[in-house]
Amino acid sequence: MAAISLQGITKQWGEVHAVRDINFEVKSGDFTVLLGPSGCGKSTTLRLIAGLDSASAGKIEIGGRDVTRLPPAQRKISMVFQSYALFPHLSVRENILFGVKVRKEPARDFEARLKRVSGILGLDALLTRRPGQLSGGQQQRVALGRALIAETPVCLMDEPLSNLDAQLRQEMRREIRALQQQLGITMIYVTHDQTEAMSMADQVILLRNGSIEQNAAPAELYAEPASVFAARFIGTPPMNILPLAESAAGMVIEGSEGRAILPHGGRPLQLGVRPEHIALVERGIPAIVESIEYFGADTIVGARIGAAPLLVRVPGQLSLAAGDRIALDWETRHQYFFDRESGLRCHPA
Ligand code: ADP
Ligand code: MG
Repeated sequence: MAAISLQGITKQWGEVHAVRDINFEVKSGDFTVLLGPSGCGKSTTLRLIAGLDSASAGKIEIGGRDVTRLPPAQRKISMVFQSYALFPHLSVRENILFGVKVRKEPARDFEARLKRVSGILGLDALLTRRPGQLSGGQQQRVALGRALIAETPVCLMDEPLSNLDAQLRQEMRREIRALQQQLGITMIYVTHDQTEAMSMADQVILLRNGSIEQNAAPAELYAEPASVFAARFIGTPPMNILPLAESAAGMVIEGSEGRAILPHGGRPLQLGVRPEHIALVERGIPAIVESIEYFGADTIVGARIGAAPLLVRVPGQLSLAAGDRIALDWETRHQYFFDRESGLRCHPA
């Protein structure tokens, strides 16, 4: 049985469809990420699961129970928001205990529950402090503590790390993932950051304009993107998309005299190749260097094949300059093809 199941979930605000016909399941104990650009419907989906908004159509089940019409308090979930809004006048201890007190849970358990949560989060020494006396990371831990102390089987997080600096975000990522696994929590986590999704998730649900573009494990999303949108959303730099055109030899990269990528015919296609799968070679497809960006471990070369710009990721440092002529190649197993109209992946023979 799925821990969470959404069936045909739609939410309209007047004429606007915030989300449309969303269907997915989350397995018990899994970490699922809702990923996508701003405005694609991530928060709306999460708020519908939490019961903070009600769906225009569809059904939501949590733990096999139809919760579509239940208020948030009866859904047995906890939630952490981007603006975690701790109470500034309350101590860490009172902030963490706030929810369980409001819900009038048995007071005799409070100390044991608090101790467990503060122990896990490393907040034992900070319980008497006010939020203003804490660092950003410590405040974030208190917000997590408020959710964890509820001891609900399902936890929902909406961009909980976006207020933190890059290094802290990376630490907290690992921490949240470890806690989720240790406590066996079923997690739905919202982010627009693909590295966060790739590094934390068991399952990634990629949203676009209120609909699911692709639902897959991180490795599958990277290796088998369903569309140009998915291919370019995952990976840095994103996958190169190169239009193909007919030539005497077959389908070539538009404007290039390089070798044929595909035999003649068929519908208009574009070729996808990831920057990390392209190599500089002695003899290959001719290209012209346009830019060089050195990052220490690797270099991103901006180049042009015919009319098509592309990026190439090469290990180490290179002695190249704009205007240089180079030759590029990649293995055919790293080629992807997409329909030029729909952007959907296809598999030409
Ligand atoms: P995300 O979290 O992915 O950035 P949201 O779920 O917040 O996106 O929003 C999805 C779409 O729904 C957006 O176009 C947004 O403007 C719209 N929307 C969200 N909440 C409301 C609301 N309360 N009233 C009207 N439109 C809304
Ligand atoms: Mg949002």
